[in-house]
Amino acid sequence: MNELYLDANATEPLRPEARAAVLAALEAGGNPSSVHGAGRAARRLLEGAREDLAARFGARPQDVIFTGGGTEANALAVRGLGQGRRVLLGATEHAAVLAAAPRDTGGAETIPVRPDGTADLAALEALLASGGPALVCLMAANNETGVLHPIPEVAALCARHGALLHVDAVQAAGRVAMDRAADSLALSGHKLGGPPGAGALLLRPGLHLPALIAGGGQERGRRGGTEPLPAIAGMAAAATAAVPEAAGRLAVLRDRIAAGLRALAPEAVIAGEAAPRLPNTLSIVLPGVPAETQVIALDLMGLRVSAGAACSSGKVARSHVLAAMGFGEAAGCGIRVSLPWNAAEDAPERFLEAWAAMRARLSRRAA
Ligand code: PLP
Repeated sequence: MNELYLDANATEPLRPEARAAVLAALEAGGNPSSVHGAGRAARRLLEGAREDLAARFGARPQDVIFTGGGTEANALAVRGLGQGRRVLLGATEHAAVLAAAPRDTGGAETIPVRPDGTADLAALEALLASGGPALVCLMAANNETGVLHPIPEVAALCARHGALLHVDAVQAAGRVAMDRAADSLALSGHKLGGPPGAGALLLRPGLHLPALIAGGGQERGRRGGTEPLPAIAGMAAAATAAVPEAAGRLAVLRDRIAAGLRALAPEAVIAGEAAPRLPNTLSIVLPGVPAETQVIALDLMGLRVSAGAACSSGKVARSHVLAAMGFGEAAGCGIRVSLPWNAAEDAPERFLEAWAAMRARLSRRAA
């Protein structure tokens, strides 16, 4: 059976540049906090990675905090910046952000999305006008649908109302050009084509952030713990290689899948199709057929896709993203196809052939 990996939003395949950087850092060894020669060599590697990542995303090196991944980068921002503020969360945020909101502020408030998945800016403005200083959390790109929020407009609204803006850029980074208007930006190494085990939070210059994990004073006292240098070196190399110009190729493949689906199955809906989206992501809703059943049927044919967020320990539930977009019962019937950076040119046709067979079998059963 020929495998077709279409689950890049769960994790991207390792890029060769990242693999080389990981191996070099592993071989170099050393702890960046040690004062001897081996430590100083590790420190040089760490600071090189910091400079590369900062340059890639328009930040200053001293404003980059390395973490253990995207979840931790989001938690660090939301917990730290949310202290003493109202926390406003996009309805379609990832669990990493939803679960991080501080509970001592009377609970987070929800920013609704429109049916196309983009943030309802009028509702956000009303929320901002209705109370004290806020922290707004909106992702750059949604992990299930690929829908992009209008971050520059959101940033302007936040500035007008004295609110801070945290952006989860885990899925957008490397795939689309990104605006640096946010106060903080979360990144994840393995979503860029690096290894798992590293992430980063990029801060606006001058912004103070208390540590979530205290310890040996690493990362200027903002994240305790020995930095996972091989994973960080891999992340920085992957970020340098992951450029939106190259990801643009994937939009052509994505659109061939969408056109094929329209011809095959008029009842299938592509969530958020009317909104600006990531070039690699397609959320396909097949009403009446549970997402889990679709994923398993496709898996048996060698097609690796996912239902909803893959981060929920293998569980498949009704998607809160599709529910927030008004899909009702069909919110449990969506699969996510996410093309990896190295997707083959014939991936759309191979997907469509298997998907048509799956639909014929499952729709007959559902009827
Ligand atoms: N934010 C988004 C939008 C994601 O898609 C994910 C993972 O799927 C995360 C955060 C968590 O990142 P990590 O797996 O690096 O903890």
